[in-house]
Amino acid sequence: MINLQIPEAGVVEQHVHLGGAVPIHRLYEAAVDRGIRLPVQSYHEFASLLHRRRDNSGTLERYLEIYEVAERIQSGPQAVRESVLIALNGAARTGGSLAVDLEGEATTPDKQQLPIRALELRFNPMKRNGNGIWDLDRVMLAACSAVNEIRTAYKGNLKAGLMVCLGRDLPFEENLILAKKVARWSEEGLPVVGLDLAGPESSNSLKDPARLEEMAELYRLAGPRVGRTVHCGETRAIDLETFLQTVKTLQPERIGHPLTAVRAYCENEDASGLKLMAERGITAELCMLSNLLTGAVQNIESYRTILNAFDQFGIRYTFSTDAPSLQKSTLAGEIGSLLQSQAVRPEQIEQSFETAAQTTFLHRLVH
Ligand SMILES: [Zn+2]
Repeated sequence: MINLQIPEAGVVEQHVHLGGAVPIHRLYEAAVDRGIRLPVQSYHEFASLLHRRRDNSGTLERYLEIYEVAERIQSGPQAVRESVLIALNGAARTGGSLAVDLEGEATTPDKQQLPIRALELRFNPMKRNGNGIWDLDRVMLAACSAVNEIRTAYKGNLKAGLMVCLGRDLPFEENLILAKKVARWSEEGLPVVGLDLAGPESSNSLKDPARLEEMAELYRLAGPRVGRTVHCGETRAIDLETFLQTVKTLQPERIGHPLTAVRAYCENEDASGLKLMAERGITAELCMLSNLLTGAVQNIESYRTILNAFDQFGIRYTFSTDAPSLQKSTLAGEIGSLLQSQAVRPEQIEQSFETAAQTTFLHRLVH
């Protein structure tokens, strides 16, 4: 596709959600198999409902709407284990192709041009315990056993680790349980390498200092063994002041879609968000297609401005797919589109591969 210097060890993908990484037909089959009630009558309707497109997304809230369906299907230890296996196998299998078909299979010859050899997979176990039917520890253990099985099956050629997402849309008490468990799971040597905060930014923007302090407490409780990232600033629900306070208080090493900082610089010449990220050496996790689908970024060409702003301030960034199966995309395809539209220069992509290898939380895996 592209004349890029690909690292010999392959590419690390840092930002993929389990809810978006299982092909739609696999979700449908699992739902039928387990007798899960669905909001639609046919596979065609199901596929159309779950496929994330501009016409059924447009905002982060709408983009996230159907995750609840995927989460319901992925609930319970058995379903979680299966989902993790499918997601990791899928990343390895489609990594080199530019596009996938409706079923999530590679449509271009799989030459492994962009081999994904390491994946950080994130999910919220609390949204997969069937409102308390299943034991949270068993849900997590099932996910971890899938990661370990993959490690063995791929003879070490596919590295993987799990990240736990707290939910902006969950009550404090549930996030508290999750944070404490993250500390324990990681101490027990399970492949849990990171902590994240996800969900609609508008449901808990952390603008209220009391809510932010609560969240900071959870970030502390997660313990010393996991890396910290946070979805922050994808939408305008997070204003610059909230962005700055969130970064200072939660102290993440990486941030998912920190676009508030870029907007403030480009629209109001306020560089404080970018300066803060630079001072603290925070890496930006960027997901091109999902940003377009949620309307966080208007068009692909805007990435030129975004990346140039990061470069200007010496902020490092990585590229990921976010939800490859629901968007029907691959990392190679997204990077190919960025290059084709001349929104990025090849050396920016090459640098992002190096950054992803350097800043991955997979270094925290206990061997
Ligand atoms: Zn995300």
